[in-house]
Amino acid sequence: MPPALASAPRDRLHRPLRDLRISVTDRCNFRCTYCMPKEVFTKDYPYLDRAALLNFEEVTRLARVFKRLGIEKIRLTGGEPLMRKNIEKLIGMLSGIGGLDLTLTTNGALLARKAAALRAAGLNRVTVSLDSLDDAVFKAMNDVDFPVAKVLEAIDAAAAAGLAPIKINMMVKRGVNDHSIVPMARFFREQGHILRFIEYMDVGHTNGWRMDDVVSAKEIVAMISREMPLEATDPNYTGEVAERWHYRDGRGEIGVIASVTQAFCRDCTRARISTEGKLYTCLFATAGHDLRALMRNGANDDELYTFVNQVWRRRGDRYSEIRSEQTVKLPKIEMSYIGG
Ligand code: SAM
Ligand code: SF4
Ligand code: SF4
Repeated sequence: MPPALASAPRDRLHRPLRDLRISVTDRCNFRCTYCMPKEVFTKDYPYLDRAALLNFEEVTRLARVFKRLGIEKIRLTGGEPLMRKNIEKLIGMLSGIGGLDLTLTTNGALLARKAAALRAAGLNRVTVSLDSLDDAVFKAMNDVDFPVAKVLEAIDAAAAAGLAPIKINMMVKRGVNDHSIVPMARFFREQGHILRFIEYMDVGHTNGWRMDDVVSAKEIVAMISREMPLEATDPNYTGEVAERWHYRDGRGEIGVIASVTQAFCRDCTRARISTEGKLYTCLFATAGHDLRALMRNGANDDELYTFVNQVWRRRGDRYSEIRSEQTVKLPKIEMSYIGG
């Protein structure tokens, strides 16, 4: 390895590379109105062909290269990651690398069935998305009539399989599910799972995002605090995206991911690989770096290492800090493609 590249890279804002998110499919069994609206993601939508997807050997190879570059954690996402065939096999291969915290984010639809196998393959934890406990609201949001009870069953199965601590993601959109904030907080505090509220983001273009639809983290904390007083907690580590709050009575905590109203770009240590192997250095990036082409054209591991190292060293992204009327209109990639 050339001496200049021997140490883990820092980007132009001195941020190290610590987390890697890998999207394993661009398909999903839900049609969440804020992510994959039905009108756009029809059965004729041009999803990627199988040959376009990174295969498991390619994903694992990249994971090894990224580990040399400093990552400590991998999160699999999508689309719906549990729809990728034999996902347990990929988890097993990634787990074989050793020394990595392995997690995935799922809508839970297939989790009850797969939790034990995922755990056995080496998955450490899961995050399950659930936007409301109100069946009518949740069904309208996932837009495929999927009931809350099935997601709750999946969460129980994941806990029983030892995929803990479990985090629950609730995306909040004004006038759609903001009245579910307090009931969700109450319920998951009893269950002992960490609920994290996500501000509605201007990812992609298909969801017709407007600032007025965003319920700010500040409002969310105030709403919950009126019934169950909260106090801010120190982050677990630098680069943690969720701002942590604990209940004053000592019974649990929540997180709020304020990517719109309180940008956290200065600590962003995250890289993303799309389903077809493009490297993105920001969730809002407009272009990626084609790692699949490098691999399929015969690059060796040192060449991949050098390439990613250089991309990271050039990185200056801080989209959320500079979000404006103009940036919202940039040709951004879709959430279902990059995986959040
Ligand atoms: N399908 C899986 C799931 O829903 O958990 C993984 C992929 S999904 C894109 C990852 C997370 O992104 C989910 O928790 C979802 O709620 C969130 N998400 C999707 N679109 C969003 C948006 N426009 N703003 C904020 N969060 C969003
Ligand atoms: Fe699918 Fe997740 Fe997007 Fe919902 S948020 S449509 S479950 S990828
Ligand atoms: Fe990181 Fe980009 Fe999000 Fe800022 S906007 S926190 S740089 S992914």
